Amino acid sequence: MIKIRYSAVDGFSKRKSFKTLKGARKYAIAMLGPYPSFGSYYAVSDDGIGKIEVIEGVKMRQLFGNYPEELKSSEDEQDAALETEMREQAEYERAFKAEMEEANKILRAYRIAGCTCSEQQLNLVGCDCAATRGENK
Ligand SMILES: [Zn+2]
Repeated sequence: MIKIRYSAVDGFSKRKSFKTLKGARKYAIAMLGPYPSFGSYYAVSDDGIGKIEVIEGVKMRQLFGNYPEELKSSEDEQDAALETEMREQAEYERAFKAEMEEANKILRAYRIAGCTCSEQQLNLVGCDCAATRGENK
């Protein structure tokens, strides 16, 4: 059970109980807005009119959903996502390199005797050196 007290500068005060954090959060945000100012055991709306105190069941900042622990866990998720991305990228590069090496083997096999073309030349446009010209005669 979560128990909180809402009070306003005009003296209005009300205690509320909630079974879930979700319910308590909804009420707290409705009364103070999502970004109140925090004291140790209370939060005050930006305009200073409303105040919520936690009586029991929840940490003050947890009530508004921006408690540091929640922020941290979302950062951990981002780190994990980034690590996965980097691992996939490394795997892709490994596979690409292996493919290129395979392709180079084939190119070397087709390189005709006396050819002095660079790998790049053979790759892009094929043999264009004296070796080819000599064969065409
Ligand atoms: Zn050549």
